[in-house]
Amino acid sequence: MVSLKRLRIFKFFMLWAVVSGFLVPGYGRLRAAAHEPAQDETGVLKNLLTAYNIESNTCTLYRAFSEKAGKEGYLQVALLFRAVLGSVTVQMENHAEAIKEMAGTPKSDLKTPMVKATGENLQGAIKQESDKFSNVYPAFLANARQERDKMAVRTFNYSKSAAEDHLNLFKEAYADPARWEKAAKRFWVCSVCGNVVTALNFTECPVCFNPLSKYGEVK
Ligand SMILES: [Zn+2]
Repeated sequence: MVSLKRLRIFKFFMLWAVVSGFLVPGYGRLRAAAHEPAQDETGVLKNLLTAYNIESNTCTLYRAFSEKAGKEGYLQVALLFRAVLGSVTVQMENHAEAIKEMAGTPKSDLKTPMVKATGENLQGAIKQESDKFSNVYPAFLANARQERDKMAVRTFNYSKSAAEDHLNLFKEAYADPARWEKAAKRFWVCSVCGNVVTALNFTECPVCFNPLSKYGEVK
């Protein structure tokens, strides 16, 4: 039979364990997020911060490219840059969420965008998206997978997939800019993963598998 004294000791231990977080699943991580200084900024966190900064600058750049394309009469290219801008904004938000989860603070070091003629701007955008798709995100993904950081894996995966789509759309526009003068194409962006499409011919997002209702048209 358990004595009253032992029962009291046990109750005391349980109370201490719950209060101190000993028995709360995931508490260690929560505590780290809430109280510990934000990190040494290496590995996954460093990559997330780099990705956030890259996409912040991409936003500034594509906003300027869109305005330039509009002024030069390439209305479809202007809309395309706006669509990709919408996609990149979603990616920034996803990166920021993952950074905050690791007790970090998303920050941008914004450079003044170099704006040239639309043809050259498209070339620059192709180079940038190609680098993201082939080098930046595959490297970040490999590291996040190694560290088994699901949130980082997800946001890097979305960005890699989006970079490939952006790359193909920019290449298409660059190959035949005259066809991209009239805004005939329509664009929709997934608010969860940033996927860009030119037709809503599916029931769930092919990248994040969320319903079609997550897509918004870019105007
Ligand atoms: Zn999606």
